[in-house]
Amino acid sequence: MLKKKIKEIVVGSNNDGKIKEIRDLLPKYYNITSPKDYGLKSPKENGNTFLENSLIKAKYFSKKTKKVCIADDSGLEVELLNNQPGIYSARWGGKKGDFNLAISKVYNKLSRLDKNWKSKKIKARFICALTIYGIKKKPIQSLGIVVGRISKKKIGNKGFGYDPIFIPENKKQTFGQMNQKTKFRNDHRSKAFRKIKKFL
Ligand code: IMP
Repeated sequence: MLKKKIKEIVVGSNNDGKIKEIRDLLPKYYNITSPKDYGLKSPKENGNTFLENSLIKAKYFSKKTKKVCIADDSGLEVELLNNQPGIYSARWGGKKGDFNLAISKVYNKLSRLDKNWKSKKIKARFICALTIYGIKKKPIQSLGIVVGRISKKKIGNKGFGYDPIFIPENKKQTFGQMNQKTKFRNDHRSKAFRKIKKFL
């Protein structure tokens, strides 16, 4: 597929928060669609890394739709929890993708490991792997990482997922308190996107 002939890009996710963020990162001249527009469910993410899982999704949706697909696999790694939830970040929200449940799991696990965790700096990082499939012979991939810490309580109602409990390094606010423009200056997804945007 030649770049100038591409009119449509499928954002390979069924997570509305993610679709919105990737849509806002992509150039405005593309018609942006998602698997829902094609009645497609997500494939099994049985890779062992963020990069493997983003490739699984990008390849699957590109082949099914015969369109270029950009897929993201991302998650939160909490150092004290041996980098959990990591690639299982979405799954911690259960079948319904309940982010409150996922956040409670993080807090409960921290409390079980260390009752005084709130008086300590709990290091964490967000990781995002992006794959563009269908534009070149080989998939194009990139990784973005933002380091920070876990907030003592949930703050802010912007963004999605673990945003209300993650404070990026040298900042006082959680991602959940930031507007999208501010989040995009620091976050894992825009860092990964900046590395591959020249292909789009
Ligand atoms: P997956 O990549 O679709 O398997 O899911 C990634 C999961 O990681 C999301 O459902 C969120 O729970 C979490 N996540 C990834 N990126 C972000 C982010 O930018 N903010 C908050 N949570 C995120």
